[in-house]
Order: sequence, then C-alpha cells, then structure tokens
Amino acid sequence: MNARETTLLEALPTGLYIDGKWVDGADGTFDVHDPATGEVLARVADASAQDGLRALDAAAAAQRSWARTPPRERGEVLRRTWQLLEDRAEDFALLMTLEMGKPIAESRAEVAYGGEFLRWFAEEAVRISGRYGPAPEGRGLMTVSHRPVGPCYLVTPWNFPLAMATRKIAPAVAAGCTAVVKPAELTPLTTLALIDLLTEAGLPPGVVNVVTTSRPEPLSDALLADRRLRKLSFTGSTRVGVSLLRKAAGNVLRTSMELGGNAPFVVFEDADLDRAVDGAVLAKFRNIGQACTAANRFLVHRSVADEFVARLTDRVAALTVGRGTEDGVEIGPLVSDRAVEGSARLVGDAVARGAVVRTGGRAPAGPGHYFEPTLLDGVTAEMAVSAEEIFAPIVGVQRFDTEDEAVALANATDFGLVGYVFTRDAQRGARMMELIETGMLGLNVGAVSNAAAPFGGVKQSGLGREGGAEGIGEYLETTYTLTPSPFG
Ligand code: NAD
Repeated sequence: MNARETTLLEALPTGLYIDGKWVDGADGTFDVHDPATGEVLARVADASAQDGLRALDAAAAAQRSWARTPPRERGEVLRRTWQLLEDRAEDFALLMTLEMGKPIAESRAEVAYGGEFLRWFAEEAVRISGRYGPAPEGRGLMTVSHRPVGPCYLVTPWNFPLAMATRKIAPAVAAGCTAVVKPAELTPLTTLALIDLLTEAGLPPGVVNVVTTSRPEPLSDALLADRRLRKLSFTGSTRVGVSLLRKAAGNVLRTSMELGGNAPFVVFEDADLDRAVDGAVLAKFRNIGQACTAANRFLVHRSVADEFVARLTDRVAALTVGRGTEDGVEIGPLVSDRAVEGSARLVGDAVARGAVVRTGGRAPAGPGHYFEPTLLDGVTAEMAVSAEEIFAPIVGVQRFDTEDEAVALANATDFGLVGYVFTRDAQRGARMMELIETGMLGLNVGAVSNAAAPFGGVKQSGLGREGGAEGIGEYLETTYTLTPSPFG
C-alpha cells in the first residue's frame, strides 16, 4: 500500500452507524481485504443480531419525523450528498478499487453512476403525487395519495459497492423512509464512507443506519421477524434472495429483489460486427465479468461466428490484467479465491464437454485472485458455463442458425434480467423487444444501466425496479380515501 492509500484508509470510519453515532459491534471486528494482494485494508465492527435491532430502534424512532420532513428538504440532503461525492470522487474511486478490485477507471465510472442516483432521487422527492376524481357512479370523490412505506432493510452485494447502496438509500430517503443498511461483508468500506457524506449533507440521526457484519443471516433473521420493519430491498444472488423472500413473507413485507442474471448476447447475421465486438467487450468484461448484467451466453449466427470469434479473441487476449490501481489495467482480480476456483471449474467442465479455449483459461499464480480473460468456442447450452451465472471474465460462444432458435436459446433460462441483441434490421430489433424475456434489453449497445431508467428483471432475476420514475414507487404505499360527493 502506498502513502495515499494508507492515509485514505486511516481516515475511514469503521464502526456501526446507529442513531447518528459511530459505535462498536457486539461481535468485535472482522477484516476487509484487498483482493489484489490479500492485504488487510481495515478492521470493521462486526454487528450481532442485537446490534441490528438497535439500528432498527433508531430507524423506527426517526420514521415519523422523517416522513413529515418536507420533500424539498429530503431532496436537498441527497443533492448535497451528490455534490460532496463529486468533490471526493477520486477518494471514493480509490476506495472501491482497493476493497473490490475493479480497475480505477471503472471505479470512477461507478462514482458517476452511483452519484446519479443521489441526484435523480433528489429530483424525484418533490414529484410524489396522487390523483383526485369522481367515483364513476357519482356518489363520492376518490383521493389517491402516497406515503412512505416505513422502516426499510437495505441489503447490498459486493460487486458495485457504491451504486448498489445509493440505488436503494436515495429513493428510500427521498420517499421519506428510514433505513437499516447492510453492505456486503467483502466490501463494507464504501458504504461507511458514504454515510459520512450523508451526515455532512445534513441527514438527521436515525434516518439511515449502517450495520456491518460477518454473519448476515442471524442479523437479517432478527430484522425480518421484527414487526416494525416494513420493507426489504435486496440485491444479490437468487439463492439468498429466495431465502430472504420466504422470511419476509412471515411479516408480509414489501420487497424489492434484484437478483442474479444469465444474459444472452445475440449477434445476428446482419449485425455491425465492429459494434458487436465493442459491445461484447463492454458487456462481458466490465467489472471483471462480475456484474449481474454481464453477458453470460454469446449466441452468434453461424455465418458470422468465425469472424466474430476471431475478432473478439484478439481483443480478449490483449486485455491488461493487474491491480486495479495501476494505470492501463483493464481486468483486476476476482473478489475471492472461491471465485477463481469456480472459474476454473466452469472452464474445465466446458473443455471436458468439447469446448475449445481460444485464449486464457487459467488462474495465474498469486498473490491476488486473478483469472485470465478467457474465450471458449464451441460452447453448448448443456455446459455449466451456459447454465450458471459465470461472474468471471469468461466468454462462451454458441452458434445458431435461425432467429427462432436464437430466441429459444436466449429464453431457455430461469433468469431474465437483461439481454443484448445486435442487428441492423429495425424490424427484427422490434421483434426482439417483444420476444426476449428480460426486464431490460440492450439493442446494439453493451451496457444499459442508467439512473433514469427502471432497472430490474423478470422471472428469477427479481421483483420491482430501481431507478427511473418507478424507483421511488418501491418505497411508497398507495392509499385511497372516499368522501361523499359535495353535491349530496
Ligand atoms: P450474495 O447473495 O451472496 O450476497 C448479497 C448480500 O446478501 C450481501 O450483503 C450478503 O452479506 C447478504 N447475505 C448473504 N447470505 C445471506 C443470508 N443467508 N442471509 C441474509 N443475508 C445474506 O450475493 P453477492 O455474491 O454479494 O453478489 C453477487 C450476486 O448479486 C450475483 O448473483 C449478481 O447477479 C447479483 N446482483 C444482482 C444485481 C441486480 O441488480 N439484479 C446487481 C448486482 C449483483
């Protein structure tokens, strides 16, 4: 670690943030590591289930006054937080690269993207509205209005430490909800730094509380069983999401679930191949392949497949691997040793079933959890690399012959987060918008995320939407009042 990194880390808060105060965790501390070197970056407070309930005490106590705080004031807190984040963008970018491993250029992009949720929901806070009108039979007047859901439990994953936090915290705060936030144990530092900005921006005590823990299950169980909690918003794997949904059912909680993906990336025979190859690099290798939106299955028309594979192989082989803090690095380490083992297993399974490694395929010697950018050709739907969410820099290319076959392959999964389609034919593009079973579609582009758009999936990729005009609705209840007609 260099002097700048050490200074940044030394200035970080490492406690639990409950009711506006930094406090210790009942279970001591746990270590946060740099995945590029294995070094310990920080020791953060380890919350017990009891600590989680204390955070909920604070959130529940602050709920009423926060809900009554004028929307403009709630929005201004978010707007000031966005400005502070902009001012400290370089520190946040470095912190994310240190704890998660992504290249510094991508961390800078995440600061901009994550910040946009603060700015977007600052603007949405003042647009919460309702409607008023006559009952159809004329006997009364109907008023429909919205109010905050109440205290929320916000659970985030490790792969986008800032954006996944702001995508939940900003709409909750804008809507007038209070929250207990639980960041992933692999990357809690960015959320702790973010809470400092929210506080500096004037967020009152108790509105947002943060608990870090190495044992998320007992803490989550305690919160989900507590009747004061009214909402769960979770981003993470489908496996954990399903188990939390079951528990949330016990108290009939509102839920927003952003779960796993298995995105198809379809290249038709009429595609602009330059655009498709650029899109493939972006859709697969952003975040070292560790994105829920990562292209997981490359489905390429047989007539252009050899050329697509040749061009993409050259690009993949040229990617620079290294510690994300170094200039020019495009692929950082994976988040853990387990992720490296999983990648080797996927490549081994594909090769054993007949796939060919065009480039990469191995884990270089440590330190750090690296895996070579890899392209597998001759992949089939039965291989684990097609069936599972890869979460690593591995491309697997399958060939198809007809549009119907491409659509059937694209939809042959329980997931439905995002799809990518490359075609120059506008009619075909419009058909794909109708036929591909995903919540989002990139048509001739390799990235779709935008704070102004409703992000989310269908099927086992989730419930609800984050961002866009829809995002704040996840934190609002709809209420309806009937009054007698003023005309008797
Ligand atoms: P994960 O499910 O292991 O963990 C997510 C969060 O859940 C973490 O905060 C973790 O501490 C917590 N958690 C883990 N086990 C738990 C348990 N038993 N009880 C309660 N909480 C528990 O997922 P991950 O590895 O952090 O993230 C990767 C996954 O997230 C991928 O599947 C990816 O597709 C998904 N993801 C989805 C989106 C989206 O918007 N759809 C965005 C990013 C990541």
